[in-house]
Amino acid sequence: MPDLPLFRHYIDGSFQPSRSGQRAPVRAPATGETYAEVALGGASEVDAAARAAKAALRGAWGSMSPDQRWDLLERVADGIEARFDDFARAESRDTGKPLSLARAVDVPRAPANFQNYARLARSVGGDAWEQHLAGGGRALHYTRHRPVGVVGVIVPWNLPLLLLTWKVAPALAMGNTVVAKPSEETPATATLLAEVFDRVGVPPGVFNVVHGAAQAGEALVSHAEVAAITFTGSTATGQRIQAASAPGLRKLSFELGGKNPSLVFADADFDAALEGTVRSVFTNCGQVCLCSERVYVEAPMYDRFVEALVARAKALRPGLPDDPTTQLGPLISEEHRRKVLGAYERARAEGAQVLCGGGAPRLAGPAAGGTFVEPTVLAGLSDASDTNQHEIFGPVCHVAPFSTEAEALQRANETRYGLCAAIWTRDLSRAHRVAAGIEAGIVWVNTWNLRELRAPFGGVKLSGSGREGGLWSLKFGTETQAVSIRL
Ligand code: NAD
Repeated sequence: MPDLPLFRHYIDGSFQPSRSGQRAPVRAPATGETYAEVALGGASEVDAAARAAKAALRGAWGSMSPDQRWDLLERVADGIEARFDDFARAESRDTGKPLSLARAVDVPRAPANFQNYARLARSVGGDAWEQHLAGGGRALHYTRHRPVGVVGVIVPWNLPLLLLTWKVAPALAMGNTVVAKPSEETPATATLLAEVFDRVGVPPGVFNVVHGAAQAGEALVSHAEVAAITFTGSTATGQRIQAASAPGLRKLSFELGGKNPSLVFADADFDAALEGTVRSVFTNCGQVCLCSERVYVEAPMYDRFVEALVARAKALRPGLPDDPTTQLGPLISEEHRRKVLGAYERARAEGAQVLCGGGAPRLAGPAAGGTFVEPTVLAGLSDASDTNQHEIFGPVCHVAPFSTEAEALQRANETRYGLCAAIWTRDLSRAHRVAAGIEAGIVWVNTWNLRELRAPFGGVKLSGSGREGGLWSLKFGTETQAVSIRL
């Protein structure tokens, strides 16, 4: 293999290869081309990073004033903005997502996360109580916020920079230090972020990146110096992490998989519901935890809505990330494509009608080597079918008609997951009733994926535990200490 660039770990302020020399190829999913390699870390790199993070906590970072830390985080935000184009190109090459999407969503959210948490953390205060003692005299009780310590951050490949910064920024804003493990599929923007930290003068050890696969993640979640783990990824991995981290009684935050419903009522604004549903099913090639995979449409609107949804799905243009006409990128990898095509096959075997798609497209030119699949709409399966119970994480949904509000609600909740739901209706009372009945952490009415960084984010059931966003993320990075003084 010709000499390829290597994405190295960033540990204690220095970029370094793996001690074992282990590395893996990094492919651009839109073309299949191997364009770089990534160092594969393990217990040794995690140990070095966790020790460096602990030392920084007790040293340079811990002795800075909060204002100095927040100023540095704002400089990180400026540093990302100064390299906006590098980040956007790296993210779209690693994930295959259209460059326009990386530029509109993924990259702007990274500086916004640092700015938002630096600002929000400045407003975090404590409580105080004055107590009159029975025998005379008084006492003052108050709370202080202490950092939890070294926070382990593990993120997936679908929104690599957005999710990484969403977790790193609040942890650092509360005075913690971080060891981050990005997905082995998408190491580029985490490495660029480490370069920004390095350049703006954040002390060594405050932010560390250990690249690698499950082995590195396992070492991180069981390391004695790691006090908290914030994880976004699949439910199966979340369950493994919970078990592995149990002996250390670590604080855990889990954002996991989903099988999200969209409920389209016959009184909805047809065009808005259609547009929103197309976005909610096919954005990022269906590789967003918030995507709708189950679409329920009230019977009077069903035929018209499904016909229009299928037409829109068929018209989506797959292609290379930097082609401005591309609407649909590839899946992340050949392995994931096999999984999604397997899900299409399983749907057929269960008796699904395939209303469009159901296979892999033949593309010409460099995209011929990409891991593309066809946008797919399925129908005719029961809610209990495997297809309707398991997250597929591709550009696919199952559509089904319903007759009453009660039926829609009952079927929406017929899942082990509970991340989010979308409701499309013009009836305000119904919107509130259905939102209240949905077993999910996030409900959108007449919109999808409308995010407010101060609002809580997270799921119920197998979609996760804990909440992120706003003050919830800051609290996760905080131990509240009670101080009592006899006056
Ligand atoms: P994954 O669980 O396979 O991997 C996620 C991360 O965990 C990667 O960095 C991986 O290397 C690491 N990992 C794997 N095994 C590990 C182990 N045993 N111990 C520690 N770390 C380990 O998930 P994925 O395939 O990268 O991402 C897709 C999944 O993420 C989907 O299920 C999707 O719904 C979910 N997701 C959820 C949210 C959310 O906010 N709820 C957001 C994005 C993605």
